[in-house]
Amino acid sequence: MELFKPMDLQSDSEKADIENVEKVRCLIIGSGPAGYTAAIYASRANLKPVLYTGMEMGGQLTTTTDVDNYPGYPDGVTGPEMMEQFKKQAERFGTDVRFGLATDTDFSGDKHKVTIDNNKQIEADTVIIATGATARYLGLEAEKKYAGMGVSACATCDGFFYRQKDVAVVGGGDTAAEEATYLAGLCNKVYMIVRRNVLRASKAMQEKVMNTSNIEILWEHQAIDLFGENGVEGAVLVKKKGTPQEEIIRIKIDGFFLAIGHTPNSDIFKKYIDTDETGYIKTIPGTSKTNIPGVFAAGDVQDPHYRQAVTAAGSGCMAAIDAERYLSEQKNEDIQKDI
Ligand code: NAP
Repeated sequence: MELFKPMDLQSDSEKADIENVEKVRCLIIGSGPAGYTAAIYASRANLKPVLYTGMEMGGQLTTTTDVDNYPGYPDGVTGPEMMEQFKKQAERFGTDVRFGLATDTDFSGDKHKVTIDNNKQIEADTVIIATGATARYLGLEAEKKYAGMGVSACATCDGFFYRQKDVAVVGGGDTAAEEATYLAGLCNKVYMIVRRNVLRASKAMQEKVMNTSNIEILWEHQAIDLFGENGVEGAVLVKKKGTPQEEIIRIKIDGFFLAIGHTPNSDIFKKYIDTDETGYIKTIPGTSKTNIPGVFAAGDVQDPHYRQAVTAAGSGCMAAIDAERYLSEQKNEDIQKDI
């Protein structure tokens, strides 16, 4: 059996495969507060981390407005600005930050294999999963039909296009309240489409919404369709669905913003990593450890409860410390074997 082929006897495809395998001590997937904080700690611990940013560099905070609740910023800071500072801090200690998307994993052996952009393979001693979560849609055909033509899941990205127009925000949580308030500063009128008769948002955000004159809350309404010729011109809603007072109404709007929560970005890990029924990665309580030794999870991908930038950052720190300790334990085991 041929165990080794000299490089010049290998086929082009074999060479390409070999050239595309890179060994790293610590691979971090994701560039939100969790990923960058893990990178800061891992690089300071000399793990020489490589961080792949994913498609949304900086994560969800780059689609938010002012962050007023992150300690250390008494006057607030914008999400994109804060993430740029996280990145700079990680790079200052030597993190290799790369733009790329993890597309597949193989955690079946000692080396944890992660494919990047379908064409490059990383073999990592440790992996920190910090892939965050993605905005949820209602699942209406019309959302696909009008994607980029009036339907959006990011008010701060797209609100600009709806200045002086009428828009609707779906949802009653903090995100919906925040987005409605932001849009109210740009738009003529903002409807909040809320499926229950209460808001889930915090009291402070509720007060903000209630005190904004051009926000109208449509209680117990659900969106079922959108209409319009070359873009959204209106939405069809059902009021008090399933009750004797059920009623179909139509509102005239130019923009339809979704703010109904998020889905954890865990699909490519699920073959090996345990998740709960909604896809959040399970970690051993009080740690960032997953069911696979050497693979850790941090941030929103493993947190259905808090989902805050500061908690994500804290869990990123835990993941880097857990990775560092795992590598030290591995090293000690190897020394013991050699004795
Ligand atoms: P969330 O708290 O889960 O709220 C989702 C909202 O969407 C709820 O009002 C929910 O209604 C509604 N909803 C869900 N599915 C729906 C559907 N199919 N049709 C209609 N409505 C639907 O999500 P979030 O607002 O994105 O917030 C996530 C986390 O981030 C929370 O912990 C929040 O406090 C935090 N957050 C904090 C800030 C801040 O502090 N500045 C800003 C944004 C978010 P029900 O209430 O009826 O379930």
